[in-house]
Amino acid sequence: RRALGVWLDGRFPQPGPRSGRSRLLVLAGPTAVGKGTVAAAVRENHPEILLSVSATTRPPRPGEVDGEHYYFVDDAAFDRMVERGELLEHATVHNKYRYGTPRMPIERALTQGRTVLLEIDLQGARQVRDAEPSATLIFLLPPSWDELVSRLVGRGTEDAEERSRRLRTAKGELAAQGEFDYHIVNDEVTRAAAEVAALAR
Ligand code: 5GP
Repeated sequence: RRALGVWLDGRFPQPGPRSGRSRLLVLAGPTAVGKGTVAAAVRENHPEILLSVSATTRPPRPGEVDGEHYYFVDDAAFDRMVERGELLEHATVHNKYRYGTPRMPIERALTQGRTVLLEIDLQGARQVRDAEPSATLIFLLPPSWDELVSRLVGRGTEDAEERSRRLRTAKGELAAQGEFDYHIVNDEVTRAAAEVAALAR
């Protein structure tokens, strides 16, 4: 309950220590907080913002389209991208599959004056912060810890063991919120997406 007070202090986006605005926005946050849903809402309501398409070694889920949701690649192809320096950042997520952000589309969009949004995990966000210190780092928070747990359970995509592993990960991820420039609470997807988009201006 005490943690909630800390979260609510960040209820409205506050300029962080690196408050200079840039056109590279990084959206991260704990597992199951709804980053993907918020990013999708940004894409839908703010087509002027480019949502980066990541490469991953994870197999596609039903309905996922190659080149739209992800670039689905095998390990060898992912290795080649890393070796050639084609990824702005990359990480193994949940100790399982690898994910990375292709550098080229981002550089092209930024050159054209477009805003780019990355929806990536905490390890990736830290790498982007180091590689591009002017990037704006946004941390998406659940309304409460209980809400995060029920979202993770409600999603029903993970078994009990995987769920408890992800909840442990989420605890560690929440502890990193102080590293971010802005905190946005995902209690209502459209509003959270609007707050993200507002940081692009
Ligand atoms: P999912 O497999 O459910 O689509 O994504 C799993 C996790 O991978 C999410 O936390 C998502 O933010 C993260 N992720 C997706 N793309 C990237 C990426 O390019 N780089 C990093 N570091 N994480 C990513």
